[in-house]
Amino acid sequence: MATKRMIRCPKCGIFNTDKEYCTNCNTLISHQKKVEIRAENVKQQQVDKAIYEKEHPNLAERLKKHPFWLYRIAGWFLYSTIMIISTIGAGLAWFIAMVAAG
Ligand SMILES: [Zn+2]
Repeated sequence: MATKRMIRCPKCGIFNTDKEYCTNCNTLISHQKKVEIRAENVKQQQVDKAIYEKEHPNLAERLKKHPFWLYRIAGWFLYSTIMIISTIGAGLAWFIAMVAAG
């Protein structure tokens, strides 16, 4: 005999068998579905973040385009620093990978 999952609706108290939504009041009752929706939301947030970052360049990029020359210099300085740090980081990651590989 197949076991069916009985899920009690938290809103109206009706028992539902293998349903994602309550048959009585349409409340989402499936735990699996809740997890899926949450995962979907996380994915959507990542997409939103990527779009936001594309539309809003970082501080270094903004400073580089600033009308006041001192801010532009600061922007380039910041940009160079970020580039150097990320280059060192990449080099370090490569070095660690090489050492780990033996
Ligand atoms: Zn219900």
